[in-house]
Amino acid sequence: MTQENRQSVKQYNRNRVFRLIASRQRISKQEIAAELNLSLPTTTQNLNSLKEEGLISENGTFDSQIGRKARAISIVPNYRVAMGLDITPHHISLVLADLNGSIIDHVRKKFTVGANEASYIALRDNVEAFVRQNHINPAQILGLGISVPGIVSFDKKEIINAATLPLPANFCEIFEKYFSFPCHMFNDASCAGIAEFWRNDYENETIAYLLLSNTVGGAILVDGVPYAGRNNRSAEFGHITIEPGGRRCSCGKQGCAEIYCSALFLSGHTDNNLETFFRELDVGNQEYEALLKEYLRNLSILINDVNMCLDCQVVLGGYMGTYLKRYIGEIRQLVSERCTFATDGGYVRACTCEFEAAALGAALSYIEEFIKSV
Ligand SMILES: [Zn+2]
Repeated sequence: MTQENRQSVKQYNRNRVFRLIASRQRISKQEIAAELNLSLPTTTQNLNSLKEEGLISENGTFDSQIGRKARAISIVPNYRVAMGLDITPHHISLVLADLNGSIIDHVRKKFTVGANEASYIALRDNVEAFVRQNHINPAQILGLGISVPGIVSFDKKEIINAATLPLPANFCEIFEKYFSFPCHMFNDASCAGIAEFWRNDYENETIAYLLLSNTVGGAILVDGVPYAGRNNRSAEFGHITIEPGGRRCSCGKQGCAEIYCSALFLSGHTDNNLETFFRELDVGNQEYEALLKEYLRNLSILINDVNMCLDCQVVLGGYMGTYLKRYIGEIRQLVSERCTFATDGGYVRACTCEFEAAALGAALSYIEEFIKSV
């Protein structure tokens, strides 16, 4: 084996050890050696080097009835952190995530971003205040991922199309100059899908994530990585026609799924307040019951279309994800009736990452990258 090969095997094993520790809350040296099929001396060598760099630490002992108690090893979660900024037409959310992918802190506030310097500076001030309030040294920050409801370039630096935001294509370039860490742009649905994948055991699976908020977006995640398509605009499920000649969509076409499956289909009747809609439903509002029935029927058409193309798990996320949990049985029934093949609809599930999924996903891409690089 050449010197170079030895180096790369060494690096490869070190990375495997770190990734395994990162994927667990706590793990013992013996478990690492057994799971990765490494000798104990090799495992010890890797653990020592990771410990010296401050990437891992001992974290108590495991209970054991016989012999010495094994020491538990964990990663040092805030060795590096990443931030996510989700920009929607009238709000911003900021999330700070550690190497475990856990949210350390978050803030959500009303903010209408404009295409002018004063607006960018106000946005920068929000990011800086957030960093200050968390006593984070900017050198610790891997990057700021910016999630937008739109299509971004392959290099994650340019906005190709974000009709609901007045931001220029080169917003990232302008904004990045304010900070010492890198910034990248992401599609909001891809971010939310990444966060969902991170939280769940979907290993070796493909999932279709439906972002059902005031707009409808989506992501197809193959082993956790969004499938981009030729133009980085795959999984635009909201603009699949489900009602030919139907109502006019924001995209200019008629009958898109977005009109019939977005949260606005329901919350449009309660001053854009989804909570009020479901509260009314709980007290037996029959008009709303009929609306929900229609909504679930529309949604089942979209889900079936997605499943017919991809034959994979379909995860319902966005604002609606939380509320749809209790109707999951009904949705499964509707999609199974619609499906050409025998299915119990069990491939449909509600999201589990409900909180600030888009902002978190934007931060997670840096965490993922960092873990790969150790
Ligand atoms: Zn449309």
